[in-house]
Amino acid sequence: MRSKFIAGNWKMNKTVADAVALATALKSGFSAKPGVAAAVCPPFTALDAVGKVLKGSAIALGAQNMHASKDGAFTGEVAASMLLELGCSYVILGHSERRTLFGETDKSVNEKTQAALAAGLTPIVCVGETLEQRKSEQTSRVITEQVFGSLAELGGSLDKIVIAYEPVWAIGTGLTASPAQAQEVHALIRKLLVRLGGEAAAQKVLIQYGGSMKPDNARELLSQPDIDGGLIGGAALKADSFLAIINAA
Ligand code: PEP
Repeated sequence: MRSKFIAGNWKMNKTVADAVALATALKSGFSAKPGVAAAVCPPFTALDAVGKVLKGSAIALGAQNMHASKDGAFTGEVAASMLLELGCSYVILGHSERRTLFGETDKSVNEKTQAALAAGLTPIVCVGETLEQRKSEQTSRVITEQVFGSLAELGGSLDKIVIAYEPVWAIGTGLTASPAQAQEVHALIRKLLVRLGGEAAAQKVLIQYGGSMKPDNARELLSQPDIDGGLIGGAALKADSFLAIINAA
């Protein structure tokens, strides 16, 4: 049976002082339970400080992006080795905000995914359709293209990734996919994973749901057979709501 994995994406929120306060509250309120893992992904500037607070706790550290190259002339970018040095075990890749606001493509997400795996980071690879795409019944096509494009040529490492299905129309809007809508896409992703890496690998991959997951809808979403956790935005910015979602898991 797959475990549940709840990760918080703090986006461009929290100064170092605010991040330390939130991480401290999470650490003191978190009680590790078998079968449930948790991580937080602060902005780059707060990774070091949050990592120090979380040391010795079961809450893991992740980043929100990285560059695919090992080092070099890439002003403003951060490499996998730099994230590892600060104690990161996860990195979010291809979030819809990166795809729509910063021009990321399946190809660049794929390069980053390969680089993260090679460095020993677990990528949380995001996919999801827009509202127009859902309304025009393009969801399966879009998800298929994103999964095959972002996860090409991972070889035997397919089972080392996490996928986040995040319908773009549900991110930060208060609109949530119904448990049935989310499960339908998660089941499709699982089938695509079988085609990419075989049944055994596909069954191991954790597929998170993201998009206005809150304490009051988490339990129902997380009880779907292919929903293995959540990638949480807004509700991850307060200790009580993030801890409540972990408890629901
Ligand atoms: C996200 O951006 O990854 C996300 C799921 O945000 P929210 O929970 O605020 O919808």
